[in-house]
Amino acid sequence: MGVRSMWEVEQAREYILSRALPLESERVFLSAERGRVLAEEIFAPINVPPFTNSAVDGYAIIASDVQGANPENPVILRVLGEVMAGEVPTIPVESGTAIRIMTGAPMPDGADAMIMVEDTELRDNDTIAIGAMARSGQYVRRVGGDVSVGQSVLGKGTVLNAAELGVLASMGVSQLSVYRKPTVAVITTGDEVIDVHSTKTLPPGKIWDSNRWTLSALVEEAGGIVHSLIHIPDDYNKTKNAFQQFADEKYGVDVIVTAGGVSVGDRDAVKPVLEELGELELWRVAMKPGKPLAFGRIGKSLFFGLPGNPVSAMVTFELFVRPVLQKMQGKPNWDRPVVQATLTESVAHEPGRREYVRAVTTLENGIWNAAPTGTQASNRLSSMVGANSLLVLPADTSDYAAGAEIDCMLLF
Ligand code: AMP
Ligand code: MG
Repeated sequence: MGVRSMWEVEQAREYILSRALPLESERVFLSAERGRVLAEEIFAPINVPPFTNSAVDGYAIIASDVQGANPENPVILRVLGEVMAGEVPTIPVESGTAIRIMTGAPMPDGADAMIMVEDTELRDNDTIAIGAMARSGQYVRRVGGDVSVGQSVLGKGTVLNAAELGVLASMGVSQLSVYRKPTVAVITTGDEVIDVHSTKTLPPGKIWDSNRWTLSALVEEAGGIVHSLIHIPDDYNKTKNAFQQFADEKYGVDVIVTAGGVSVGDRDAVKPVLEELGELELWRVAMKPGKPLAFGRIGKSLFFGLPGNPVSAMVTFELFVRPVLQKMQGKPNWDRPVVQATLTESVAHEPGRREYVRAVTTLENGIWNAAPTGTQASNRLSSMVGANSLLVLPADTSDYAAGAEIDCMLLF
């Protein structure tokens, strides 16, 4: 394919993803951070629960002692003592006796069932009447009933979310190997672009830099680390210095993402500098918004030259950068779900390039309804606000009427 012709979206995606590999693993302490990916298989170091315990507040008994018990003919048992959660029973239950224990407390030796407090009646200080029979094992949680020692619990490649983190903790796993998170340098470009924190009033002819915020938020959302966030003017040498610094073998980043300056403007420096320092491997994708996209490599850093238009930058990030960041983190899947949605209003579409239309998509009575977020100009960043999906209009189609069924990529 190379850099001369225009790439189709799928082709470009496949190529770009083939250039990214999972990063090496690192050992981390268990934390509440969601979304890290296990780089090792976890075998249970202990049984969970670690000891047989009670599932209820009640009395540990011997089931055969209450054989035949009913409310008219209750069985009377002598209560030997009490065990709270966190304590260890010191005496066994023998026939004719019971020990009062709380939920989560270890079962005393000899006992094989629990009777709920609600099913007993306290006769005096140390006897209870039980008016119901019990099955052996009733309300008892067996040692290893959740996870048994040595069992493979979480596979390599498992994404760690709330349940997985809890399971690790339940086994006492406090350190684990996960894939390293990719470091990213976000670089915005353009002589007209000004950081909102650099001055109070916008000078004539200038605009505020929005890409720095959208892109760094997207990097973090995708699980990357925003290593650096800078702006450079449309200047060849400054662009070169920045790229060199971020592609440095030792101190560089895994991924460089730029926005703007990648088109054919007189001062657009991104592409020529990329070609001088590294390799431009892909250039221009047949999509709207986002045609001027450059992908390549400088040293060990993957390089994405995204278009400067704020919507184009976000959409191309979603389609090309996010999956790469996810793959680098060892994620097994980076595809967004695609559903068939019904357009709530008509959408204009010129045949030629595939178009991604921002929409609010909701599920109503089992049907996905998609409402486009107004004018779809690629500079109209407010069309991304509230959008939870991208409608995919194939290249070879034209305008869509309200009610048309359409592929819809859900961004949540
Ligand atoms: P470019 O790709 O550099 O030609 O930029 C395309 C359009 O996006 C121009 O109108 C730029 O002013 C605008 N643009 C570029 N970078 C940014 C940015 N960081 N924030 C907001 N708009 C931008
Ligand atoms: Mg520019």
